[in-house]
Amino acid sequence: MEGRKIMAKYESKVYQHGTLGMLVPGLFEGTMTVADLLKHGNWGIGTASGLDGEMILLDHVPYLAQSNGEIRILKPEEKVPFATVHFEEIKDSFKVENLTQKELEDKILADYPYKNVFFAVKIVGNFSTVKTRVVEKQTRPYKTLLQVADEQAVFESTDVSGTVIGYFAPKMFQGMAAAGYHLHFLADNKSIGGHLLDFKIKEATVYLQPFATIEQHLPMDNQEFLNKDLDIADMHDQIQKAEG
Ligand SMILES: [Zn+2]
Repeated sequence: MEGRKIMAKYESKVYQHGTLGMLVPGLFEGTMTVADLLKHGNWGIGTASGLDGEMILLDHVPYLAQSNGEIRILKPEEKVPFATVHFEEIKDSFKVENLTQKELEDKILADYPYKNVFFAVKIVGNFSTVKTRVVEKQTRPYKTLLQVADEQAVFESTDVSGTVIGYFAPKMFQGMAAAGYHLHFLADNKSIGGHLLDFKIKEATVYLQPFATIEQHLPMDNQEFLNKDLDIADMHDQIQKAEG
């Protein structure tokens, strides 16, 4: 018999270091090196130490959109407090034209049975409009995530080609992640990047990857995290306001 590859049952994994909930009270210090993070995935999103910008990990390259509008590549020894990554293993893809962010997000959940699972979203194509935000690097004493979100830099662009990468988290994982979609963007020409607030697709291909397994890694050697009393009473509300 020919050595025909037997397809394994579809099971891919998403890896996360830190939680979004930890950022809410200001645990912004980087706790994992980029070099270690990249052992767990070649696509993903995150932020840098001190909440210094928005990370966009595209095919092994960890770009960082900074609040001054510049895009740079994170060094292997730099650390991240929070990042979500995965190795790409696309399950679904489809082409779309002239869709708003809301229309696309609703379409995915209407067309695919993924409302109760984590999945990655990648969009490659041309965008009529893109609006991003980038958080500003913080120094100690750290503020709360919500206070930082009030000071974010906002960028807008029209007719731009680029890549969206990010995740959908079901509502029950609010706190570990931001429930719903959490997407970042980087323009092909690096003219704009960051955490997506809004976009309109002109024409693009959308790729989806659902995950059967979630690996949640915590910063066990960070005393500040270990000692922190995390008050989750208003955490959901703060996440929605800061990330919505
Ligand atoms: Zn983000």
